[in-house]
Amino acid sequence: MLTETAEGLYCEAGGFHIDPWGAVPRALITHAHGDHARAGSAAYLCADASAPLLARRFGSDVPIESQPYGQALTLGRTRVSFHPAGHVLGSAQIRVEGPDGVWVVSGDYKRAADPTCAPFEPVPCDVFITESTFALPIYRWDETAAVIADLVGWWDGNRERGLTSIVFCYTIGKAQRLLAEIGRVTDRPIWVHGALLPMIEVYRAAGVAMAPTQALIERPRGTSFAGELVLAPPSARGTPWMRRLGDLSDAFASGLMRVRGVRRQRACDRGFVLSDHADWPALLDTIVASGAGRVLATHGHAEPLARFLREQGVDAGVIHTAWEDEGGDDE
Ligand SMILES: [Zn+2]
Ligand SMILES: [Zn+2]
Repeated sequence: MLTETAEGLYCEAGGFHIDPWGAVPRALITHAHGDHARAGSAAYLCADASAPLLARRFGSDVPIESQPYGQALTLGRTRVSFHPAGHVLGSAQIRVEGPDGVWVVSGDYKRAADPTCAPFEPVPCDVFITESTFALPIYRWDETAAVIADLVGWWDGNRERGLTSIVFCYTIGKAQRLLAEIGRVTDRPIWVHGALLPMIEVYRAAGVAMAPTQALIERPRGTSFAGELVLAPPSARGTPWMRRLGDLSDAFASGLMRVRGVRRQRACDRGFVLSDHADWPALLDTIVASGAGRVLATHGHAEPLARFLREQGVDAGVIHTAWEDEGGDDE
């Protein structure tokens, strides 16, 4: 029912693409990250909470329609619905029911609790197209509370030493999850780089509770940030913008921090392993829970995951994407 085309995954029976990288007449979007939501299509359909994020990315003149989670609509000869994926605000698995049974496209997902988005909901299906960003046995996440306690402890230590703490994190999802989680353990305000502000605003407008934030740009030049915590996108690293922060300790928050080689390559003082993707055990649990007779892996370590599943007797294959390198811009 879903086939690979030059523009991305296509459903002929429904007349739409899912997360296409090419420009298409109708794009169904699992979530607002750059490797899933590309500009240029004529019309977009997503889950309700994803729409304001897409509008920020694409501009308000782009036609974006949205659906509440769980509500089906008819597209061609299919029934389509969006179901929570637990990845970022508005992230959805897309369920397509049609002549070839029920297919579910997971988009990116995680099973760990996240105060910034609706929790993942298992959706029974015949064919499950699963992401595989961290589909290797080395990827196993610690409890979020422990990671946050570690981060806050690092911040406290830096404050005692008169250093500014800066954490690099991605703009959609990770920044807000950090703000929400840190906001549970302290009410101290957190400084944020200007590039993070628009998406933080969208999350606040959606009612997500987060630590109070202050825009760094609003502080007069020359004021000290010693003892403060600053969030910034990875692109700010090594730019002249950093100079105003004074003496600092830097960290990166990402599932990629599980890998020593990546930590070394990023060369930050600290790496906090906090991911918005399912780890290896969660991927396998989710695949079993889907009840799917056929599993197709995509976005990441698709080949190793499919091979592992075949060894377990599962009918498994891969779906190729324009992004064959791990991580993408969202992790
Ligand atoms: Zn994503
Ligand atoms: Zn992705």
